[in-house]
Amino acid sequence: AAPRLSDPGLFREQCYIDGRWVDADGGGVIDVTNPANGETLGSVPNMGAAETRRAIEAAEKAWPAWSGLLAKERATILRKWFELILENQEDLAHLMTLEQGKPLAEARGEVVYGAGFIEWFAEEAKRVYGDTIPQHQADKRIVVIKQSIGVVAAITPWNFPNAMITRKCAPALAAGCPVVIKPAAQTPYSAFALAELAERAGIPAGIVNIVTGDARAIGGEMTSSPIVRKLSFTGSTGIGKLLMEQCASTVKKISLELGGNAPFLVFDDADLDAAVEGAMISKFRNTGQTCVCANRILVQEGVYDAFAAKLTEAVKQLKVGPGQEEGVGQGPLIDSAALAKVEEHVSDATEKGARVVLGGARHERGGTFFQPTVLTDVTTAMKITREETFGPVAPLFRFKTEEEGVAMANDTEFGLAAYFYARDIGRIWRVGEALESGMVGINTGLISTEVAPFGGVKESGIGREGSKYGIEEFLEVKYLCMGGV
Ligand code: ADP
Repeated sequence: AAPRLSDPGLFREQCYIDGRWVDADGGGVIDVTNPANGETLGSVPNMGAAETRRAIEAAEKAWPAWSGLLAKERATILRKWFELILENQEDLAHLMTLEQGKPLAEARGEVVYGAGFIEWFAEEAKRVYGDTIPQHQADKRIVVIKQSIGVVAAITPWNFPNAMITRKCAPALAAGCPVVIKPAAQTPYSAFALAELAERAGIPAGIVNIVTGDARAIGGEMTSSPIVRKLSFTGSTGIGKLLMEQCASTVKKISLELGGNAPFLVFDDADLDAAVEGAMISKFRNTGQTCVCANRILVQEGVYDAFAAKLTEAVKQLKVGPGQEEGVGQGPLIDSAALAKVEEHVSDATEKGARVVLGGARHERGGTFFQPTVLTDVTTAMKITREETFGPVAPLFRFKTEEEGVAMANDTEFGLAAYFYARDIGRIWRVGEALESGMVGINTGLISTEVAPFGGVKESGIGREGSKYGIEEFLEVKYLCMGGV
């Protein structure tokens, strides 16, 4: 059944290329389902390389006029897009919950968060400053300017169907670049709704394009096309590595935001109630399906039992159900593969000696619902230590000293987010500096904002999104050397 929206025009089932709503060349479609009940919501075009190429060519054609606008003119249009998104917050949130499953309150929050990137980068567009450099020879002058890089390809995941798109599009557009977006197959409708609002905001044809369908074919065209100058990807580490390899042949600039294995450390001087509150947000938001979700909760031995008891009490309060239901704090997992992975991590842990304090099994709601789970006595021999669970399972590890806690936290090839709770100011500096991650939440479980640089180190990625650093990813530095002065 088609979603009931107050503005039915926001539910689009076609792709958006060069300012037109279009079907796949062969007319094929792919169904989109609601993860809360398995029902079909509708379909989207099953496109491939040919349609992607057309979108890339349209983007290239539209680029000069868009980058030729004054920054203030682009900012005015982006501002309009931002306002339209906020005006349609309810419809966008409703659509997102239907296709993604997250609680409506979280979906509403994501719409505001996502729109924030557009507001922020509309403003940043005006501050793309260059440089002058004192000359190295008397008759020369040196000037550095920054220019839009060109056509951008963006590939986004299903866990934040709105914000992962605005986080890439807003800085690209602000910098003067057109984009071709491939949203995740599970959550295309949030992307189409954003394109509909982009059109209403007056973003010209060819500047925002959306293609859905065969991920390998679309990704293959995006990465091999010499027209595309930049790839921005958020998703799994495996696909990120593959895309990085594919981009080598045309030497594209890339931004990758990949998997994490976030440690969440609770030191014995922590405010335990605050730590529990932070752990709840960091672990259970979006049913544990965010790349910055706490994956390993490391607790110093002196407060281990007390923290475990308090956390278990808090987790017990989580209401599980479809995202539209009043008071629901945890929705379904995205699909059965996600459910299988969570089950596997729990059974592997229990087989190796972990204790299930709460949950540990599928939820009585059926489908892909899983019980909010707390495991204690988790050790580094278990799978949950090495792999991102991406589900509502809080595994509690024990450590003795600060050094041991930090070493355990860093014992991973990933380095996206890390969190810790402590009050001692010396410890806060030491641990903050020692953690190998792009972002550190200190006495907070929530770190995402458009004003700060989001991104990882090690195998968690390359580049930063949001903040003044985010726009640099879509700019090239050019140095002009004038002689004969
Ligand atoms: P997840 O586990 O979050 O689904 P993926 O990395 O598989 O992570 O998906 C993230 C995005 O990458 C999605 O839009 C997906 O369709 C896309 N994707 C998956 N495989 C490929 C591929 N071979 N080439 C390009 N994009 C891909």
